[in-house]
Amino acid sequence: MINKNSPVILSINDLNASIEGTPILKGVNLEIKAGEIHAIMGRNGSGKSTLSKIIAGSPDYEVTSGDIIYQGKSILEQEPDQRALAGIFLAFQYPLEIPGVSNLDFLRVAYNAKRKFQGQEELDAFDFEDLVREKLDIVQMNPAFLDRSLNEGFSGGEKKRNEILQMAILEPTLGILDEIDSGLDIDALRIVANGVNQLTRSDNSFLLITHYQRLLNYIEPDYVHIMYDGKIVKTGDKELALELEESGYDFLDLEVAIG
Ligand code: ADP
Ligand code: MG
Repeated sequence: MINKNSPVILSINDLNASIEGTPILKGVNLEIKAGEIHAIMGRNGSGKSTLSKIIAGSPDYEVTSGDIIYQGKSILEQEPDQRALAGIFLAFQYPLEIPGVSNLDFLRVAYNAKRKFQGQEELDAFDFEDLVREKLDIVQMNPAFLDRSLNEGFSGGEKKRNEILQMAILEPTLGILDEIDSGLDIDALRIVANGVNQLTRSDNSFLLITHYQRLLNYIEPDYVHIMYDGKIVKTGDKELALELEESGYDFLDLEVAIG
């Protein structure tokens, strides 16, 4: 929800970034305040995943100029784990499978790392399991998934639900969801969207990355941005997503050419 007086959580200023010498981001500007949900839409290859990975601190990319300010401080020099501890969470487009690491253990280690960082006592296995069981409802997940290896053999929808479960436990200040809707059937999409909606608060914010308008029927964004060739070329409200759906991404070529 938009509240002009809310603090700024994330501010991206004229961000340029390359991979192996090829420029991918070409001057991204974005400001996200507490309580807001932003969506970034754009064609495949426009740089959406690159942007999300750079915010999370992926070492694969080189930021060549510009800055990323999170809660008032530049995070460019911070490692991914420091950014995560500070409350930045990236739900991956393709969540990793980690055979041999149980989902429950993974969640507990991540959760306790955060508790420790915040100067709180760590939870033991029993107390943590109680906490997790409460959160399972948010994504309607069967407790059997806790004992399985992290994401191993999970269906696409189960992996995405598991990403939301991680968010429910870690309670990020900035949740970035990269194509959380990809590969989901309508029931899984509803569950995932519903889960995200239950996690929104006035003091956190979300950045949804999606190729399709459909997701935005379930999670209502305050702002919709369109990314094109490594830049945000247009910003509007949820109507912009509907317009885009109507006219397709091709109309952007014309708009961008005309300027
Ligand atoms: P989107 O998520 O919008 O589909 P990406 O951020 O994944 O776009 O990709 C943006 C551009 O960066 C694409 O042209 C892609 O080919 C290029 N790119 C991404 N990763 C690499 C890489 N490791 N090496 C070279 N080019 C890459
Ligand atoms: Mg992508």
